[in-house]
Amino acid sequence: MTAVPQPTAALLDGTALARELTARTAESAAELRRRTGTAPCLATVLVGADPASVTYVRMKQNSCAKAGIESRHVALPAEISTAGLVDAVTALSEDPAVHGILLQHPVGAHIDERAAFEAIAPGKDVDGVTTASFAAMSFGLPGFVSCTPGGIMRLLDAYDVELSGRHAVVVGRSPILGKPAGMLLLARDATVTYCHSRTADLRAHLREADLVVAAVGRPRFIRGEDLKPGVVVVDAGYNEGNVGDVDFDSAAARASLITPVPGGVGPMTIAVLLEQTVEAAWRQLVS
Ligand code: NAP
Repeated sequence: MTAVPQPTAALLDGTALARELTARTAESAAELRRRTGTAPCLATVLVGADPASVTYVRMKQNSCAKAGIESRHVALPAEISTAGLVDAVTALSEDPAVHGILLQHPVGAHIDERAAFEAIAPGKDVDGVTTASFAAMSFGLPGFVSCTPGGIMRLLDAYDVELSGRHAVVVGRSPILGKPAGMLLLARDATVTYCHSRTADLRAHLREADLVVAAVGRPRFIRGEDLKPGVVVVDAGYNEGNVGDVDFDSAAARASLITPVPGGVGPMTIAVLLEQTVEAAWRQLVS
């Protein structure tokens, strides 16, 4: 008879931590409103009507409303040009009533996404997507972090995961997720290996990892047999059918700590977005 692997890992509970963080953010938003008479405002920009993007934006707006953050939605046609999108984002950057800007990604293959992101004023870049924000984060200077990697770090810290001297393997190197996640781990003295689609013998790297961050976009790409016993597993992947980039059952049988999907990294991403929006509003309205 084949033995069925039993889960041994404890959960890194992003839902519970995000709730705590958002409760503090809501208090801060209410205090700002008392002091200035103005509520923080997040502008969301959506190009086209991709159903997943529409859902993500709606989730973020609903979360804003619960935290006392106003949102202003800018819906643009799928066929808008790069110049048109840059103009729309620039207008929000210059509007004093808007404190944070979220440009929902992806924006369509015909658009220069980087140019559109760079139109976000760094002080309003609460999603942490501009080169200015990436540079500040990499140099350890004040600024807004990319929300998903920022949420991952908050989760690891809440569970006292030791990072200094540990080997972190980040699978994925996108500018909004894998790359900044590795930079934040490096800043905390982890030894970081980035893996990507051209990595030779990726599974050998995984077997050496004390911490794995999965940011691949491929369902159940990482399995328990790829992992060292006791590893900490953070699954940032979110694929159709609520499936992560990690095969949860087999990985949980090897790991000491693991994020569920859903309920791990996703809620933390939104919680960090809200926190940074309120922080941006404080800086613009009070200091
Ligand atoms: P992305 O831009 O498509 O990047 C995927 C990365 O994975 C790339 O660096 C790619 O390598 C690498 N990759 C793809 N196939 C691979 C393979 N077979 N072997 C090794 N590496 C491979 O995706 P993303 O925007 O970073 O998102 C990644 C995942 O996170 C998706 O599931 C997405 O839905 C999820 N996500 C979740 C949140 C959240 O809030 N929870 C936020 C953002 C994204 P190359 O660079 O070589 O192409």
